[in-house]
Amino acid sequence: MQSADDWVTRSLASVWHPCTQMQHHETMPLVAISHGRGAWLYDHQGQRYLDAVSSWWVNLFGHANPRINEALKDQLDRLEHAMLAGFTHEPVVQLSERLAAKTRHALGHCFYASDGASAVEIALKMSFHYWRNSGRSEKQEFVCLQGSYHGETVGALGVTDVPVFTEAYGGMYQRAHVVMSPDARQAKSGESDADVAVRAIQAMRTLLERRSDKIAAVIVEPLVQCAVGMAMHAPDYLRQLRALCDEFAVHLIADEIAVGCGRTGTFFACEQAAIWPDFLCLSKGISGGYLPLSLVMTTDNVYQAFYHPEVARGFLHSHSYTGNPLACRAALATLQIFDDDDVISHNQLRAKKLAQALQPIAAHPQVSHVRQRGMIAAFDVSPTVREGFARRFFTTALQKELLLRPIGTTVYWMPPFMLSDEEMTLLGERTLEVLQLTTL
Ligand SMILES: *Cc1c(COP(=O)(O)O)cnc(C)c1O
Repeated sequence: MQSADDWVTRSLASVWHPCTQMQHHETMPLVAISHGRGAWLYDHQGQRYLDAVSSWWVNLFGHANPRINEALKDQLDRLEHAMLAGFTHEPVVQLSERLAAKTRHALGHCFYASDGASAVEIALKMSFHYWRNSGRSEKQEFVCLQGSYHGETVGALGVTDVPVFTEAYGGMYQRAHVVMSPDARQAKSGESDADVAVRAIQAMRTLLERRSDKIAAVIVEPLVQCAVGMAMHAPDYLRQLRALCDEFAVHLIADEIAVGCGRTGTFFACEQAAIWPDFLCLSKGISGGYLPLSLVMTTDNVYQAFYHPEVARGFLHSHSYTGNPLACRAALATLQIFDDDDVISHNQLRAKKLAQALQPIAAHPQVSHVRQRGMIAAFDVSPTVREGFARRFFTTALQKELLLRPIGTTVYWMPPFMLSDEEMTLLGERTLEVLQLTTL
């Protein structure tokens, strides 16, 4: 038997961990997880941690979920993988049909990849190629919002505006136009979130009036810009943005990789603005947090622009594991849970409980901008010592059995949907304790 310390030592010697300055592990703990159950992760010493960030926003219905496990075991004995060019299989067909039906066939065509950044790049390439196929090959530029995050591959960095991720790589990619975000925290006194949205729309209109002939698409994270620190905006922003994109013949790409799959209160975040984009990217929660899977949904109109006898007018993009049957099956089991348990309605109740758990924290003198959209809750902290706050908070939270990973000075909860009332209460109480210990 390996002891827990062995796994940590061996990991630090051989695994280069993501999103980490490895030297920080000289003082910051690395936790070796042995197993997971429900909302909890367990290390080798039997210490448990409430997975309040859904393991980077992917887990919806808990670890080792019996229904997803059962579906995967069944699929393993049928077909683990087959290539998707020239072949098809039941799980990918069923998944595409079920997702299309959720948009009432407004987005009736699904293109598959494995990770979120690839889905973003597919949407960008499809938009670019659409305009080329439509005789408007001068439309080659993209627009993103301030603080946007769309992944970290080279193309996705071009539409990302979070300096920690982009700064070192500036020369590597074509930079998108960056336009004012509708982040409601920018409200001046007397302004509502809708007023901020109006200002942000005006900024977008100014750019499109000047430049739309050269612009292929605008990409946004609907309702919540997550990676920059859970920046939230009014749904009406999306409605107005859709109208602008129509007016100026520019595609709208909705990156629902983090906010899709019920996270914000509706299955797709765009539903809250009663709009559909031209491209919708999904990943993270779609496989229930089990397997890498991403996809881009698009319209008949886009699909038809590629449908032609000429090979080069087709969309020739591919990934080795495109439409992997195991991942699709995990996604189907996840969608089945949405139906069987009426998850969207139940989440309204859970979101209320989450709001209650947040209340005592809102009263803390160093806390501001307490905000929530469905099953995402966040607040900003003004700690006495700003440097290293996120890491101090993370480490202290672990001692209180919580997995929380602040972004800068923003603390957020993005828990699995199946959190019980007791677990929510525990989350609220312990977060407050951690806050008190880290703001001293
Ligand atoms: C996580 C995320 C991505 C990137 O997904 P990966 O699977 O990490 O490549 C893209 N967009 C948004 C909004 C995300 O939250």
